[in-house]
Amino acid sequence: MAGAVATTRRLWSQLRLPHGVRSAVALLLVAVTLGVWLWQVRPFDSRHGFGVDAPSAGIGAARAPLGAPPSMPGGQGGYTFMRMQGNGADPVAYDPCRPIHFVTSSVGLPDGGDALVREAVAAMSEASGLRFVDDGLTDEAPTPERDPFQPDRYGDRWAPVYIAFATPQQIPRLAGATVGLGGSTPRAAADGVLVYVTGSVWLDVAAMDDLLAAGRRDSARAVVEHEIGHVLGLDHVSDATQLMSETGGSGAGPADGDRRGLAILGRGVCRPDL
Ligand SMILES: [Zn+2]
Repeated sequence: MAGAVATTRRLWSQLRLPHGVRSAVALLLVAVTLGVWLWQVRPFDSRHGFGVDAPSAGIGAARAPLGAPPSMPGGQGGYTFMRMQGNGADPVAYDPCRPIHFVTSSVGLPDGGDALVREAVAAMSEASGLRFVDDGLTDEAPTPERDPFQPDRYGDRWAPVYIAFATPQQIPRLAGATVGLGGSTPRAAADGVLVYVTGSVWLDVAAMDDLLAAGRRDSARAVVEHEIGHVLGLDHVSDATQLMSETGGSGAGPADGDRRGLAILGRGVCRPDL
């Protein structure tokens, strides 16, 4: 190290530069060195703060859950979860201390499509106790691999949940009889607990248009509710009376089993460190 400094000194004194230029170069070297040192010892976890793949931690987080999940309803019907924590006992869920922001794609949106989305969101918010915030329409195009952090479009926060009426050309998994798809992206806190940070709902635009044209608005809304159920963390059940059956239930909103699952998902942990 000392040898390297001495060599640098010798080279430095041999440089024939005007004094002002040498001072400016010296200042620049000090600034770059200090910058590299600060970058190496930055006091934040690499996934947060200075990270490029995550927003600052705790954006929009309150100190307590924003809503109250309903008490567990009685009645018939079960539920399953999309993903469990490492302990095998608790499901992966959203942080109840911050609202779930959502946007609706303006591309391919049928007449009344945004109202349908808002009604479905309201039903699933009521059943889970999770607070949703409507961030309006977006021109973000549907892609199967959506970036959960898009600071240029949405700023320093996790991208809002994205709801789109899309085609199988845009989302290949919508091909065939599939009317909708939904799911969320988890992130791990430092202690390994997983928390959903954003999600997507893709609705087959042709199938949804057909339902609406046939006057089957309840069925169309049930499709959106079912996919939001996946976003919140519910998986399929074999009981056809439940919203989370593969056939999408009766069209009367979440049933008792769905509601029990949603009430559990509304009791996730608050993680301001994400
Ligand atoms: Zn499904």
